[in-house]
Amino acid sequence: ADSRAYAAHCLLALDTTAVLLGNSERLLGDMDAIAGDGDHGRGMVRGSAAALDAATAAFERGAGAGSLLAAAGDAWADKAGGTSGVLWGAGLRAFGEQIGDTETPTPDVLAQSVRAFADRIASLGKAEIGDKTMMDALLPFASSLEDRISSGAAAEDAWAAAAADATTAAASTAALRPLKGRARPLAEKSIGTPDPGATSLAMVFTAVGPHFTS
Ligand code: ADP
Ligand code: MG
Ligand code: MG
Repeated sequence: ADSRAYAAHCLLALDTTAVLLGNSERLLGDMDAIAGDGDHGRGMVRGSAAALDAATAAFERGAGAGSLLAAAGDAWADKAGGTSGVLWGAGLRAFGEQIGDTETPTPDVLAQSVRAFADRIASLGKAEIGDKTMMDALLPFASSLEDRISSGAAAEDAWAAAAADATTAAASTAALRPLKGRARPLAEKSIGTPDPGATSLAMVFTAVGPHFTS
């Protein structure tokens, strides 16, 4: 595929993300209301919708994949509000910068771009595994993708399997007590419910795989 075609796949990934989060607003908000402030669904909807608008404008200007994703990240961070919006926006920009204005990336470049997304969020949010945040789904995703790609799996298969691992990891956060973010003061109430940010991350990564690996 040429670079224009891959930019179109990235635009579709953002469209899929915005639709998915629009349909999940209530679920994510209710989950965040248990120990947090209940706005996770709203924030993710606003962020992903702004990202899609910015990506659409970038595509119409002829932007390549990486530039399109970086512009989408800036809009997400700007419009979402909340901790998760800043982190998702910055991560998406880093993903775009790493992937570049490319044709379909090699599996190695794709894995490196996911790692750049994770590294940017880690350096801003400073959350570690077990703190009950989105990192509890994101770090297993990034590691699983790298392992499978370095073992020679096709990108689409590696991504799907990594997304299944992230989904399992997100569900497993139910047992944890939050050590970062707004849910920390009501940590006890959070036990038994998965982290909303880990849940939304696993959902989005599951849905976008076919687009990023096309
Ligand atoms: P806010 O907490 O500002 O209301 P959201 O409700 O949109 O923002 O997002 C909450 C989610 O953000 C949490 O469920 C968690 O996954 C994630 N989060 C919070 N703090 C951090 C952090 N320091 N690093 C990574 N993720 C974090
Ligand atoms: Mg919140
Ligand atoms: Mg909030």
